[in-house]
Amino acid sequence: MVRINSNYLKLPGSYLFSEIARRVAAHTAENPGKPIIKLGIGDVTLPLPKASVEAIHRAADEMGSADTFRGYGPEQGYEFLRELISEHDFKARGTDIEPCEIFVSDGSKSDTGNIGDIFSNENTVAVCDPVYPVYVDTNAMAGRAGDYDPETGKWSDIIYMKGSEENGFVPEPPRGGAAPDMIYLCYPNNPTGTAITKPQLAEWVDYALEHGSVILYDAAYEAYITEEGIPHSIYEIEGAKKCAIEFRSFSKNAGFTGTRCAYTVVPDELKIGDVPVNRLWNRRQTTKFNGVPYIVQRAAAAVYSPEGREQTKALVSYYLNNARIILDGLKSAGFKVWGGVNSPYVWLKTPDGMTSWQFFDYMLDRLGIVGTPGSGFGPSGEGYFRLTGFGSAANTERAVERIIQGKI
Ligand code: PLP
Repeated sequence: MVRINSNYLKLPGSYLFSEIARRVAAHTAENPGKPIIKLGIGDVTLPLPKASVEAIHRAADEMGSADTFRGYGPEQGYEFLRELISEHDFKARGTDIEPCEIFVSDGSKSDTGNIGDIFSNENTVAVCDPVYPVYVDTNAMAGRAGDYDPETGKWSDIIYMKGSEENGFVPEPPRGGAAPDMIYLCYPNNPTGTAITKPQLAEWVDYALEHGSVILYDAAYEAYITEEGIPHSIYEIEGAKKCAIEFRSFSKNAGFTGTRCAYTVVPDELKIGDVPVNRLWNRRQTTKFNGVPYIVQRAAAAVYSPEGREQTKALVSYYLNNARIILDGLKSAGFKVWGGVNSPYVWLKTPDGMTSWQFFDYMLDRLGIVGTPGSGFGPSGEGYFRLTGFGSAANTERAVERIIQGKI
């Protein structure tokens, strides 16, 4: 009889967003007409940049004409897009990443989830805690995580690197004991909004090189970096091409969450033993993936046009401004806060020792604001809460007034 992948049965239910929806629905039923402001969302709200919309129209016309129609494209992405990425995102910043090291995809969620295909299930895995849950769940599906303990909220075989107030939610490499083989890092970070400095990231790269680990570096929020000294790419660090894979996305800089386009960099220099990892990822993608639609890749390419760059800059500034309003408001209301400067996310410590869910209920019942409980991102998120700059400016200001006044 056919057997299923029983690792799936070990996964706890995806409790976080369904529980938020349940509590919001119950609140709305009990308080009809009471206005709720949603500052918990991780999705963008502004429309696509005009340059991308125009590119979509042009590309759609090409697809509708026999002499310009295109069928399957290259699985790795069209050369026109890979060249623009190489030029603008890397060479213009002094990092030499060639188009052949770039794989265009339909999202960083897929890529960070699928990358495990090319690594042995014997590998040990380390994640920062709190964490973007995809890294943990996809390793659990592959059988690398061991068993889930609902008491601790941890998987037995995952190495959790604790983010805390002491380390500013930027954990250091684990010392003592065997070094993890696969290390997931995400900066600027979701959910804490913190950024990593060059010296901090250099420590990670040195560690990976010393121990033969691979760093899986998720830079989905790279466009939100505003401060000097914060690396935009892990390849700004000496030696990183020998130990790191980087994930980037058009979702949060250009509003592509529903349009779907991202890319992953697998440098030629990255070898495990004498096996080039680029060749493995290429094999994986050409076997299991048939490329991003031409129309979508044209939309992504338009992001790099002069108008596209202005328009995406404006989108990011809008969300960053919201994040700054939240950050300043929370500070003036006496909260302890992180993030919001190089990130659309603001992370706060719940007051008076409240749990994340108790604070969720307080925010909803008392202030009519929906945020995200930090405990949903891992055990070390307990006692913290995430707000985001992805709402409208007007709603963000209204929410911050409520927070400062302690009432609606
Ligand atoms: N990585 C992180 C850290 C994210 O927060 C998200 C989305 O919220 C993604 C990846 C997903 O990106 P994409 O829309 O490209 O799949």
